[in-house]
Amino acid sequence: TKEKSLNFIEQIIEEDLKNGLSQDKLRFRFPPEPNGYLHVGHASSICLNFGLGIDYDAPVNLRFDDTNPAKEEQEFVDAIKKDVEWLGFKWDKEVYASDYFQQLYDWAVEFIKKGKAYVDSQSSEEIAKQKGTPTQAGEDSPYRNRSVEENLDLFERMKNGEFKEGEHILRAKIDMASTNMLMRDPIMYRIINASHHRTGDKWCIYPMYDWAHGESDYVEQISHSFCTLEFLPHRELYDWFLNQVYDENKVRPKQREFARRNLSHTVVSKRKLLQLVQEKHVNGWDDPRMSTISGMRRRGYTAAAIRNFADTIGIAKRDNLIDVSLLEFCVREDLNKITDRVMAVLDPIKLVITNYPEGHEEWLDAENNPEAEEVTYRKVPFSRELYIERDDFLEEANSKYFRLTLGKEVRLKNAYIIKGESVVKDENGNIIEIHVTYDPDSRSGSGSEASKRKVKGTIHWVSIPHAIAAEIRLYDRLFTNENPDGNKEVDFKEFINPDSLKVITGYLEPSLRTAKDGDKFQFQRLGYFAVDKDSTNDKLVFNKTVGLKDTWAK
Ligand code: ATP
Ligand code: MG
Ligand code: MG
Repeated sequence: TKEKSLNFIEQIIEEDLKNGLSQDKLRFRFPPEPNGYLHVGHASSICLNFGLGIDYDAPVNLRFDDTNPAKEEQEFVDAIKKDVEWLGFKWDKEVYASDYFQQLYDWAVEFIKKGKAYVDSQSSEEIAKQKGTPTQAGEDSPYRNRSVEENLDLFERMKNGEFKEGEHILRAKIDMASTNMLMRDPIMYRIINASHHRTGDKWCIYPMYDWAHGESDYVEQISHSFCTLEFLPHRELYDWFLNQVYDENKVRPKQREFARRNLSHTVVSKRKLLQLVQEKHVNGWDDPRMSTISGMRRRGYTAAAIRNFADTIGIAKRDNLIDVSLLEFCVREDLNKITDRVMAVLDPIKLVITNYPEGHEEWLDAENNPEAEEVTYRKVPFSRELYIERDDFLEEANSKYFRLTLGKEVRLKNAYIIKGESVVKDENGNIIEIHVTYDPDSRSGSGSEASKRKVKGTIHWVSIPHAIAAEIRLYDRLFTNENPDGNKEVDFKEFINPDSLKVITGYLEPSLRTAKDGDKFQFQRLGYFAVDKDSTNDKLVFNKTVGLKDTWAK
């Protein structure tokens, strides 16, 4: 059904279709555990599963893998739904592993009756000691041959809340000599005395991931269950559990594995991201430095850019570290297309045009977005006193310096050609004002001879009496190390960059006064910036999303 070259996941699906699986039986799922906010790694998995849904016109379930009430919360469920929607995907059913707690329990009772499960009453330390090693068989639990009646009685009482955590567990009775350690009588249920965000206090036994996941896939009739590589050894157990309940007339779900996506200079693990939040290394899950989807959104990344990034890196069979600059490239590429160009000065120095009439102002035309299909213009105010960037001026410079210097000309973007005349210094010799003259005939777009004059540089500016001051948050990498998670000896937090956030005041052209949370702009010559949710009516706050690739000359 597909022409382009297929990745190995698509090949598996195509093979199954060839072997008789009908196309209308295809169904996928994205199965997050609601124990944190989704991160860029999850974005890959979302794009994979929902992308397959689109390509094969198949439904995709959003399944919350909510089997551990001690770590899961409604807040995370809500955040996950918001992120998947924001990325642009629609799920078929919103489902929860907890929807199947009764079914899973009933199946477990069947297992006990068939001699395929037993209640073990040892401590977890004792059980661990009997596990053996990959080259040495494990030892049977003394409870392995409990009678069916005793098992049924204990299991029911576990469910009824008669025991404390750790007193009993239910184990599948498989093979204590298996070369796959996961097959050595794995745990199916443990007692947890915590309130569940959906089932409340109804249950005090909770299924383990391996027990719940495959059976949930089966209940939902998922055809292909894609997970990350660390689950490869779990596949045998996934299949064993399925074999016990499988009915031949139904779709048999298939677990297949792909490589986890890791991103350089960050961590992609909810547990580690949670530590950053709890220990206040960042300001919440949606801090713009975080690798979370909500952090990237707040930073100003677009859903299209993240989807494009996920498609570009594709899926792999081996774990590897993707350079964050590739993600930034995708972000820049999209923002270049969609953002309006505006002028903002972030490190201001005052410039006075000595031959421009005092008290006068004029409103000049400025192009919004040269990449847009239909080019539109806005008005920007111009006056005698402007801010320009401090590093756009040098008193003396060589011929390779294309910005402002004494005795030479530059163009003020959208405005006039000016010539550096003199500087005013404070008692320490620091320049506090630059005095220039302008050529009144050189206004951009006026069509005059002087307006067509070629000068070497163009610099941006804002009119001081019209400028709005705004808080600008500049970000650096959150970790100084490319792979903060890569060294098992060193805690990832050792690599936190102490200077990852810098807050400054910038001066913006007044058209930005009406900008709203989430609006994105290119501050010309500086980069892409997005309005932060901390903005108020009195004060705008911007996040620097990403710098420009230095195309237009400084
Ligand atoms: P974490 O350790 O961050 O909690 P997880 O795998 O336990 O990750 P889940 O909520 O269970 O998180 O993941 C939901 C889905 O997203 C799973 O199918 C999982 O394999 C996938 N996934 C998680 N992290 C990544 C990643 N870095 N790259 C690709 N897929 C991922
Ligand atoms: Mg996890
Ligand atoms: Mg998980």
